[in-house]
Amino acid sequence: MSEEKSLNFIEEIVEADLANGKYATITTRFPPEPNGYLHIGHAKSICLNFGLAKKYGGKTNLRFDDTNPVTEETEYVDSIKDDVRWLGFSWANEFYASDYFEQLYGFAVKLIEKGLAYVDDSTSDEIAAQKGTPTIPGVRNVFADRTVAENLQLFTDMRAGKYPDGSKVLRAKIDMASPNMLLRDPIIYRIKHAHHHRTGDKWCIYPMYDFAHGQSDSIENITHSICTLEFIPHRDLYDWCIEKLEIFPSHQYEFARLNMTYTIMSKRKLLQLVNEKHVNGWDDPRMSTISGMRRRGYTAEAIREFCDRIGVAKRENLIDVGLLEFFVREHLNKIALRRMVVFDPLKIVLTNYPDTVEMLPSENNPENPEGGSREIPFSKELYIERDDFMEVAPKKYFRLAPGQMVRLKSAYIIKCEDVIKDAEGKVTELHCTYLPESKSGSDTSGIHVKGTLHWVSVPHAVTAEVRLYDRLFKVEDVGNAEGDFKDHINPDSLQVISHAYAEPALLLDNPDDRYQFIRKGYFILDKDSTKEKLVFNRTVTLKDGWAKETKKA
Ligand code: ATP
Ligand code: MG
Repeated sequence: MSEEKSLNFIEEIVEADLANGKYATITTRFPPEPNGYLHIGHAKSICLNFGLAKKYGGKTNLRFDDTNPVTEETEYVDSIKDDVRWLGFSWANEFYASDYFEQLYGFAVKLIEKGLAYVDDSTSDEIAAQKGTPTIPGVRNVFADRTVAENLQLFTDMRAGKYPDGSKVLRAKIDMASPNMLLRDPIIYRIKHAHHHRTGDKWCIYPMYDFAHGQSDSIENITHSICTLEFIPHRDLYDWCIEKLEIFPSHQYEFARLNMTYTIMSKRKLLQLVNEKHVNGWDDPRMSTISGMRRRGYTAEAIREFCDRIGVAKRENLIDVGLLEFFVREHLNKIALRRMVVFDPLKIVLTNYPDTVEMLPSENNPENPEGGSREIPFSKELYIERDDFMEVAPKKYFRLAPGQMVRLKSAYIIKCEDVIKDAEGKVTELHCTYLPESKSGSDTSGIHVKGTLHWVSVPHAVTAEVRLYDRLFKVEDVGNAEGDFKDHINPDSLQVISHAYAEPALLLDNPDDRYQFIRKGYFILDKDSTKEKLVFNRTVTLKDGWAKETKKA
């Protein structure tokens, strides 16, 4: 990953702006609307905005775009701050668009005074009908002819709460024939008698997105205002307002939003999943939210690497979620502690092993020379994985079978001598012998076996619940799939193993540690864990199982 990367188009713009002295330093902002938890698409925007400022020695503001009073909550504000911090970024300032309400109101008054805005009493249907179509110009109504004095009075009265919701709006007077529909006298203020999470009941008129976003950028002296492609048509209005208000000339630049396979990225849809209980909350480990990914065990480093690698595109595309998982695996491989956990136990008894316990050292992470080691208790009775044994094994089966030998990881070579079954013929236990001279690290047995199994000592085993996650959706392009997106939910996205058996070192580790359960995947402790029961989430499998499935099909 160390090849010299060429600049993305936004970096090129920034470098040119700095080189020709347009700006001495850059300021960017990340402007979430606090109406939900952030998702991986927002992570892309965060990495881009904060990454640019970091690279060019500028700064980034965190600005809550909280101009819509009805959907915004403090819970969301807090979660957003947590997520940005967790991703590894710090903002220069924490701002709220609602803090600018007074200034924005002043901007509106200024437009009225310049004859560039008017109060319209039409219904929303009338306004829509008068707007025309992209090929037919719109028409102005009589309200557009109101005098400046009349408009100032009406706007003052709107603010004073004299009118009910929807009875009047303030519109910018631009061009009813513009090919850009957003310039056909756009609504810039509406009446909404609603409680706002920060301003309370102080306001009953609220600015529209297009009369808040660009202006907030200007107020903060944002040099590069980066947003997603759907805002391209808004740019003319963004520039018009700045020009007419004669305020700091922020500029808007658009890039393609991140879309990912098997994933939805819309707060509105994610909220539906939460409300309708398809998942267990915003931070359900199957969610594409940053909090879900964090709970699942993804690392901020891996997410940042991913965002960096996918780059900044000018055209929409669909990124393979497997790429994100690749970066997660790559990072976890370097940091995860190796531990042994048996999911579906088959007991084995080592008939020639004494009734004592031996502590066997094993490296925490062979990829990390400074990772140290832990000691694993080994005894006469062990659990192995039931599917690591076959009574009638095919050729080239290197796991355990009658008369066959395997190595137990960090321990000894064992040989299966006897298969014990119950009345129904189910295998209940294996009797094995071990080779004392085959101890890992001091093996003098001269015997080479091809299979190495993970295991746990029965009397020392710690029970744990293990949650195995799969993709939340069955189709690749959920956003464009037919029907309701919820029709495509994968019913098997969560498998719970309620009684797995873990080596006792797992009790002593730090809750933030990442694990590789040997031969099983990467895991992290879940917040549902209690003193009585450990709960682990599978972060990601060891290999990309879906790539294999697709090839097979
Ligand atoms: P959603 O539709 O999920 O609610 P949004 O765009 O309405 O997303 P905002 O809170 O308004 O969410 O977004 C904050 C910033 O994150 C914006 O600058 C927006 O362009 C950016 N953003 C949102 N989704 C994506 C995405 N999928 N890829 C890249 N950037 C995104
Ligand atoms: Mg939005």
